[in-house]
Amino acid sequence: MQPQSQAQPPRRRIRPRRLAAIATVTVVTLAVSTSAGTGRLAPGTTAAGPGPAGLSRSSAHGPCMISGGPEIQMSEGVPTSAGYARSTGTVRALTLMIDFSDAPGEGRALDRYAEFFPQTEEWFRTSSYGRLDYRPDTPIRDWLRMPKPFAEYGIERGAPFDPGYRNLVQDLVAAADTKVDFRSYDLLNVLVTPNAGPSALDTVLSVTFAGNAEAPVADGVPVANASFVYSRQDDGSGSYGETGYRVLPHENGHVFGLPDLYTQEGGGAVGHWDIMSEDWGANNDLLGWHKWKLGWLDPSQVHCSPATGTTEYTLTPLAREGGDKLVVVPLDGTSGYAVELRTREGNDETVCRPGVLIYKVDADVDTGMGPVTVFDSRRDSGGCTRSPNVHAELSDAAFTPGETFEDPRRGITIAVSGAGLKGDHQVRVTRR
Ligand SMILES: [Zn+2]
Repeated sequence: MQPQSQAQPPRRRIRPRRLAAIATVTVVTLAVSTSAGTGRLAPGTTAAGPGPAGLSRSSAHGPCMISGGPEIQMSEGVPTSAGYARSTGTVRALTLMIDFSDAPGEGRALDRYAEFFPQTEEWFRTSSYGRLDYRPDTPIRDWLRMPKPFAEYGIERGAPFDPGYRNLVQDLVAAADTKVDFRSYDLLNVLVTPNAGPSALDTVLSVTFAGNAEAPVADGVPVANASFVYSRQDDGSGSYGETGYRVLPHENGHVFGLPDLYTQEGGGAVGHWDIMSEDWGANNDLLGWHKWKLGWLDPSQVHCSPATGTTEYTLTPLAREGGDKLVVVPLDGTSGYAVELRTREGNDETVCRPGVLIYKVDADVDTGMGPVTVFDSRRDSGGCTRSPNVHAELSDAAFTPGETFEDPRRGITIAVSGAGLKGDHQVRVTRR
């Protein structure tokens, strides 16, 4: 029942189309599975390094390191399967600005680049507590003209990798090869001239092909992890200069192995609590689960609750460096509850009711199908934000001191038992 501003892009038009675009990843991987017969994209055959470091199985976290079945394309499982770009340390992002004869670049290519940088690298530095040192590189500083008109590539929503994107990547590699050593990079960003294709208000074409070892080869390595950004996510509210870059950290999230959290219905499963759920509107951070998955939390900052008994934890705000960040309550080998403290700081600009966020993570649910569900401590409240492009209902989902989440069927209780002077919150997990 939240009033929507006139400028707000209609979710139902944007989200399903984004979903359709991501579904192309499925097509690619299925094709690989069939031809290679491995069932998974083979590790070690991509240009990228290994997945997130520091997530080797330990007895302390074993029950919480859930994983999905082989049919899941992009899973919330920990650790992330191989083939994606690494998400810790120095990550080199080859960034190319491309245009077409039927959509010639308007203005300077470096102005297009400046729509996303340095904001994107700063966003990652903040979210990762400095653990991801994102280095964009533009060895070609002008528009890179593709040999065919945009219309000829057949790029539209839901376009599969073959043949359009394969042709585009092949042409891009050929055009850039004399000036670019593709072996030097962990991922590729393709910033398409905004006048190619439809407005993002109508159709979001931006898409990532991740872990795609069957991609065209450049300098001996497949272009396995590539994000394409089209148009401008400009809702007309005047905030584009501040928030428009956020599509790129979202797309790069896929390159690092993160699934989409929005569904056919939009952002109703996770709201604005993760950039993989909502990347329009004001800045937001990633879930603690994603930070763990990406290797941005030490093992000592993540607690796996025991199978029985009562255990108390002290959580520090997720956006702040140091301290305990995540409690996981494992359920059945493929799913678990995650518990974290969200406050209005760091990348979390729209938190209007700080508190303990509790959500279910299901590694057996695929990208775009709702692998994460946030529990709303105040159902049907309408939420506490009026910020445009923020799913309002879940904005007040966090639990505050004195409030309790209960799953009577599984005998699980998660109580927020107190708060400290520095903003820490105590959480008591009971299992019987
Ligand atoms: Zn996405």
